[in-house]
Order: sequence, then structure tokens, then C-alpha cells
Amino acid sequence: MKRPSLMKGCRLPELPEVETTVRGLEHVLKGRRLSRVEPRRADLRRAFPADLGQRLTGARVISLGRRAKYGLIDTDRGDTLIFHLGMSGAWRVDPDELGKHDHLLLETDEGRRLSLRDPRRFGSIDLVATDDLADWPAFAELGPEPLGGAIDGRWLKERFAGRDAAIKLMLLDQKMVAGLGNIYACEALFRAKIDPRKPAGKVSLPKLNALAEAIPTVLEEAIWAGGSTLRDFAAPDGELGYFSKQFDVYDREGEPCHRNDGNVRRIVQGGRSTFFCPACQR
Ligand SMILES: [Zn+2]
Repeated sequence: MKRPSLMKGCRLPELPEVETTVRGLEHVLKGRRLSRVEPRRADLRRAFPADLGQRLTGARVISLGRRAKYGLIDTDRGDTLIFHLGMSGAWRVDPDELGKHDHLLLETDEGRRLSLRDPRRFGSIDLVATDDLADWPAFAELGPEPLGGAIDGRWLKERFAGRDAAIKLMLLDQKMVAGLGNIYACEALFRAKIDPRKPAGKVSLPKLNALAEAIPTVLEEAIWAGGSTLRDFAAPDGELGYFSKQFDVYDREGEPCHRNDGNVRRIVQGGRSTFFCPACQR
């Protein structure tokens, strides 16, 4: 059954959107002093840190980064602002005016303004000592970054050994790979020609080698596509991080496979949609 067309293109921020957002924020924030920090409500998914404005106002941003699907903004006061875009969050650059969904406003000493817009409010803002980041609860148990070069076929083979869980579900486990996400797990399994339902422990080493190559490839392609939005970041009222991208299998139920005459199928695994081509993913 086809899902309503309204759902097409409506998707959550995943790792490439967060990475693209961080790179866009870098242009505005890196090296700048925060002259104004204004929370416009008390919470998103959880409460904003009570001393947010006090700790950030006047601080200089020294670097930005990403861990899994969290964006990191490090200041010269030894604090890191951690943001999560939840289901609908985005940073707006130099917004003309602020609306009811703009929940946090940052202003730099150059007069640039950034507002975190999040209509559904599933995002979060935290402030953690930079030295303690690795122990922050959401980070403490994360697996390696999929773009960090730490994952190869042999590493996957060791982690998957003896595991009966479907390989797709294992890839979504944050303790296995940090921040890979549903779309890119589907796309990487398609590239590596692996059936997403296959028990992880039964996938051969050559296929896991192909998967270890496919994971950074699909993410980097998406980040590259997202990079085009950065050209617009200087425009007033630009919104960082969201871009449209053609996928091989994701959200293409019933459509022809790009590789053979199979059709893309959708199943549900662990409550999430999996898209794959039964004809070439084995
Ligand atoms: Zn196919």
C-alpha cells in the first residue's frame, strides 16, 4: 500500500543534516563572542540549563563539532553547548523576525543572529564541561562514529559474532555505530547487497567489508548534497541543515530497483520502516 504522498520528503534530521548544520554554524560562530544568549522558553524535550545565559553570554566560540546526532559548540570558558534537533529542529540564520517556534536566540559580536526553531520541541539544549563530554550520559555508551574510520569488515564481524538479531537492527544500535540512523542503514545495506532481515552473526566477511565501505559512502554523499545548502546560509532567513536527496531504496516502496528489475519493498523492523530490494539483497 502506498503511503500518502504528504509523507514524501518529510523526514527527521539524521547525521548528515546535523553535520551540515554544524558546518553552517561554524561560518557564523567560530571565533566569535556571544554577545546575547536568550532562551525564549524554559525547555524543549527537557529543561534548558538554568544558567545557560549566564555561562554563555560573553564567551567566545572556539570550535564546533558533532557526536552521533548531537551538535557541539565549544567555548573558551570550558563549556560545550550540546544541541539535538529532535524531530523538527533547525537553526535559522539571521531571521527577519522571531516566531513562537524560535526557542533559543544567539547573537554574535558581529551582529549575526541564530535562532533554534523547533515546532515539535523534541530537541534539546545542554551545557556540559568540555573535559567531561565523554562521560556525559548520552555519550558514555556510544559506539564509534561511522565517519571516523574505526569501522571495517573485521570489526563488524567481531561485534556481530553469535548475534541472531537482524543486521538492520544491529546497525541502528547506538552502542554499535553512533548516529547511523534509519535512512542510511537502509541505504548502506542496499549498497552492500545485504538482506536487512539476515541475522547479523551470519553475514559473511566479504559482505561486511562491503558494508563497512558503504556506511561512510552513503553518509558522505548526503553531506556533500547538504553542502549545497551552505551556499544559501548567508541569505537572510536561511535555515541550516535540511536538503532533498534521492535515495536508492529509502521511501521508494513499490518503485523499481536501481540495480535490477526487482521492486523496493517496505517492511517494519523494531517499529521502523525498512526499505530494501529482495531481488538483490541477500
Ligand atoms: Zn534490486
